[in-house]
Amino acid sequence: MSDLRGKVAVVTGASRGIGEASARALDAIGGQVILTGRTVDDLERVAGELENEPIVIPADLAKPEAGTELANRILNEVGGVDILVNNAGIPMRRMPEKLTEEDIDLVFAVNVRSLLTLSIGLADSMKRRGGGSIINVSSVAGVRGPGARVAYAGTKGAVDAMTRALASDWGPDGIRVNSIAPGLIATAIWEESRNTIPGLIEEMEGQIALKRWGFGDDIADVVTFFATDSSRYVTGETLVVDGGLARVSASAAPQVLPELIE
Ligand code: NAD
Repeated sequence: MSDLRGKVAVVTGASRGIGEASARALDAIGGQVILTGRTVDDLERVAGELENEPIVIPADLAKPEAGTELANRILNEVGGVDILVNNAGIPMRRMPEKLTEEDIDLVFAVNVRSLLTLSIGLADSMKRRGGGSIINVSSVAGVRGPGARVAYAGTKGAVDAMTRALASDWGPDGIRVNSIAPGLIATAIWEESRNTIPGLIEEMEGQIALKRWGFGDDIADVVTFFATDSSRYVTGETLVVDGGLARVSASAAPQVLPELIE
């Protein structure tokens, strides 16, 4: 895999989980990482373990104008970037009847609006540098129809749609735009449910062809693929990274009469 020496990579939500793993992976192959998120202490902790002059820029992406303001701060700090990992995101597990207008605005503000405005704010600098790679973290929730998650699923479907549209707009400028749709990844998003719902881990693992939850590194390795020249002819794609949760039948039981199986 080609390395990222001389390249600048922004990772949103880099304080923990998939974002932290991605920041570490990009640093490990030579990239200078700009870590952004809400919690300065956590961002500093991660940055303190990176090699290539990491920079911490805190931001709350729920706020109006946050994506544009963050892009301007990044450009003031480093001049330009080559890679953007739009990872920051929040869940919203609620039945449709329980959703408030505020819930819907919040999840779309963080998962969709800021992702788009930050991408727009940084795209010109990528163009000036001859191209770049934008990697959006969506979810299998956007390709399936999960229960009690209509607002979240809507944001992630929107992310995949914007991925294809931006790939079309910016392809001529050498900017590739792809998304990664993780399945069940053992991060803070799941911590409470994993600890408090008896049998949840086993039940969910039962639906996964590879029979295990994913970890941040499982996604970070795909982030590095999209960040480097290894994926130079791939754009507008959504890669589902879920151990075979969404698109593979995880059922061990034969789906046809036994005598029909050769
Ligand atoms: P996490 O909660 O561990 O991390 C989320 C990160 O986003 C944190 O760094 C957090 O600070 C940041 N963030 C949240 N709200 C923010 C805001 N308002 N402003 C700035 N930063 C904010 O979650 P994770 O599991 O690592 O999730 C990362 C991404 O992966 C999210 O977009 C999530 O939707 C997606 N995802 C996760 C899973 C999973 O099972 N963990 C599955 C599919 C998709």
